Amino acid sequence: MPDMKVDLHCHSNVSDGVLAPAAVAATARKAGVDVWALTDHDEVSGIPAARAAAEQQGMRFVTGVEISITWANETVHIVGLRIDENNQALVDGLASTRSGRDSRGREIARQLETIGIGGAYEGALKYVGNPDLMSRTHFARYLVEIGACANTGEVFKKYLSEGKPGYVPHCWATLAQAVGWIRDAGGIAVIAHPGRYRFTPLAQGELFSEFKQLGGAAIEVVTGSHTPDQYPQYAQLANYYGFLASRGTDFHAPGESRVDFAALPPLPANVTPVWHDWF
Ligand code: AMP
Ligand code: MN
Ligand code: MN
Ligand code: MN
Repeated sequence: MPDMKVDLHCHSNVSDGVLAPAAVAATARKAGVDVWALTDHDEVSGIPAARAAAEQQGMRFVTGVEISITWANETVHIVGLRIDENNQALVDGLASTRSGRDSRGREIARQLETIGIGGAYEGALKYVGNPDLMSRTHFARYLVEIGACANTGEVFKKYLSEGKPGYVPHCWATLAQAVGWIRDAGGIAVIAHPGRYRFTPLAQGELFSEFKQLGGAAIEVVTGSHTPDQYPQYAQLANYYGFLASRGTDFHAPGESRVDFAALPPLPANVTPVWHDWF
């Protein structure tokens, strides 16, 4: 099926997306997606509803998750595909990864308070669909609501990224843990949007090598979190390291993402898709 449209990176309101899992499925289908994965941050509880909706819509469903890790003092995201979402090691690992999010949220709010932005914890909470998963994105939406910034991207730039007044450092899982949980659950580990991290080429190479050694299998090449000039760059790196290539919008909300479901280009022809032997 050479013209099959595959999207393996999306969020629902079970993490920091705005639509319920079934509504994300419907949105993807309307945009022509044939193979679809829901990959909420650190959480798999949206999978049953997503699977049911995907099957009802006639899409092939792929179980997924996007795990937050800390590597070389940076937050990196590892996507797990084709996981058994009931695997105990994975379920326990994700629960421990989520456990610090609420206290981090309270600390973000406390820091924003010191620069004159009050009520941010309660404000962000209005946007939270899953009390276990308070994200910086929910703060960003609240700060847009009160007129502090015009859009969520600007909030991250001015308030929520490293060195900014609402930034709270956080230690997530390790690379070895995340890849271990995914593999334990029978899944395929994928480095999400590798072009988004601020690593030197040397550090990026170390990340790829360590990931490969741990049993990581793929990197995202075409993602809404890459710029179009990064597609051929990461295609080349995938081939150099012997990784399969993945593709996904990183959809969070209608109108909020850089690229719409229908607009994301296919993978470059010179890579091996992560789904090459699935169907
Ligand atoms: P958290 O896991 O709470 O640290 O939040 C990370 C999430 O924030 C990411 O998954 C993105 O959805 C969002 N995010 C990070 N950086 C930006 C940015 N520059 N613009 C918009 N959203 C961002
Ligand atoms: Mn997100
Ligand atoms: Mn991510
Ligand atoms: Mn994502």
